Amino acid sequence: MFMFKRIVEANLSDHEIHIFEQHNKLGAGMPYSKFGASKEHITNVSDNEIPEIKTHVKEWISNVPSEVLHKYDMEQIKLNEYKVLPRLLFGEYLTGQFDLLLEEARKTGIHTEIHYKIRVIDIVDLESAHKVRVEVSGGEKFTFDKVIICTGHCFPTDREDKLSGWYDSPYPPEKLAQNINYEVAIRGASLTAIDAVRTLARANGNFSTNLDGSYTYALKNNRNDFKIVLHSLGGLLPSMRFHLEESQPDPSSLFSDEEMKIIMADNNGFIPLDYVFDKNFRKVLSQKRPHLYNAIEGKSMEQFIDFMMDKRLNKETFELFKEEYNEAEVSIIEHDPIVWKETLTELSYVVNYCVKHFSAEDMIRFKKTLHPLIAIIIAFVPQSSARELLALHDAGLLDLVKVDKESSVSPSPLGGCIYTYVDSHGQLVEKHYAMFIDALGQKPFFFNQLPFQGLINRDVMSPAYLRFEEAENAQNEIQSGNKDVVRVTSGDYLLQLPGISINDYFQPLNQYGVASQRLYVMAVPYISGLNPDYSGLDFCEVASGKIIQKLSAD
Ligand SMILES: Cc1cc2nc3c(=O)[nH]c(=O)nc-3n(C[C@H](O)[C@H](O)[C@H](O)COP(=O)(O)OP(=O)(O)OC[C@H]3O[C@@H](n4cnc5c(N)ncnc54)[C@H](O)[C@@H]3O)c2cc1C
Repeated sequence: MFMFKRIVEANLSDHEIHIFEQHNKLGAGMPYSKFGASKEHITNVSDNEIPEIKTHVKEWISNVPSEVLHKYDMEQIKLNEYKVLPRLLFGEYLTGQFDLLLEEARKTGIHTEIHYKIRVIDIVDLESAHKVRVEVSGGEKFTFDKVIICTGHCFPTDREDKLSGWYDSPYPPEKLAQNINYEVAIRGASLTAIDAVRTLARANGNFSTNLDGSYTYALKNNRNDFKIVLHSLGGLLPSMRFHLEESQPDPSSLFSDEEMKIIMADNNGFIPLDYVFDKNFRKVLSQKRPHLYNAIEGKSMEQFIDFMMDKRLNKETFELFKEEYNEAEVSIIEHDPIVWKETLTELSYVVNYCVKHFSAEDMIRFKKTLHPLIAIIIAFVPQSSARELLALHDAGLLDLVKVDKESSVSPSPLGGCIYTYVDSHGQLVEKHYAMFIDALGQKPFFFNQLPFQGLINRDVMSPAYLRFEEAENAQNEIQSGNKDVVRVTSGDYLLQLPGISINDYFQPLNQYGVASQRLYVMAVPYISGLNPDYSGLDFCEVASGKIIQKLSAD
């Protein structure tokens, strides 16, 4: 939708646009339709945090019939621009926005054809003809000058199709709405896990609201053995939504092409992680809150992160979660941002578009240190989800277990899984659960897992990698067992990453580093190695903006 919006705004009336959608609806995509949400699922962004489309959500919602709002228990909610929305309702909004864009395209003379219920099954780059062939379900073939791949999320069901009590993801969520009278294991403890918890909890009990706004949970009859156990590597729950001073990330904070060129020229062809941390975290914090800055002055990025992580790891998980909930409530009520968290969010927005110019050394540092902290902080758990988790925990029905890196989950002959891990006392645990839900979120895809066979061709696309700055660092990584480090025929050492190589304009790069002139990829699972943090609406806005710059110039 954001790509189409850019095309309409750029008034590309000399282009003919074809949109292929495997389902019968535009705009809602996976997260905001029945494929990724049920009634109980909510967005983690509010009206004021949504990049502008055509109409503000608030204005749109004032015209939504009351029966529809009633379906989502919305009549009691005093709507304002700071409220999050049920995802399915948000999907209706997005579909409505797509219709408005189509209307505008029609008026401005951009010929647009929508192919509903048509699945693209292959894409082939026709080098000599300077064209791209698109093959669709039903056998038809189309030929285009350019193709933009926006196929979005993909949650395969390989094991779930064959195993009982095993779910490769919580999507589509309606499959989890079952009567359950046993313990359920969830791998992961972030937003995807929370989606699963919300569905399981509603199917097996009810929440009621207390006078102080907290919730109490009561099980339905005959579900006395129902319990959910989250399993997480860090042993932490994600952070809460809070009030943001800047409701949307500022695109002007992203490095311009010119700025990137200068930084890279000064740094052996790389953008150093420390440079970005200094400019987009340290300096920003020193201006916004000098007293907070004093606490980190002189600390390296690693020391700062250890300091923030230690503060979290030294507390009991749900106690910390409750504290953060209270802090976020105050922030929202008083419109008072939590400055260090907001600055970290802004940093992660900028870092995402610099990663492709990191050295392999910095990528390894980023993955070990900054990325885990960012992942916790920018999850933005909605307040009502937090109240539900706390109520379930208070009722003794939700636990979180910290597992080790070597932990594993395997299918059990009895159905469900055997979870094997070393617990916090160093004891090996092997536990059977009758139901297992994998909630690690969108998993990255590797080059040879691309769904379009025609593109698994190294003259068109190639696997993502980053170069090492120093051979010695690569050799040390190899010695310490890092299997992602390889030495290529040129003698260079590379760090292999998931997904494909792309440039700043989301054009895939072939094995010689040459950008495709006909293809663009903004489907997150296929570019996640070089685009590690973002899949949200602001990513859609930035990526489509970069692509249109190239498209309009051609
Ligand atoms: C469960 C979930 C909840 C989320 N919640 C939020 C949130 O609250 N806030 C936020 O900012 N971000 C959220 N996100 C991030 C989300 O990625 C983006 O907001 C956005 O939906 C991504 O849009 P997309 O079009 O790239 O992908 P998608 O929404 O996945 O859409 C891809 C579309 O392509 C179609 N398609 C796929 N393959 C084919 C094919 N071969 N042929 C034809 N059509 C095809 C699909 O049917 C779908 O309509 C969430 C993500 C998930 C998974």
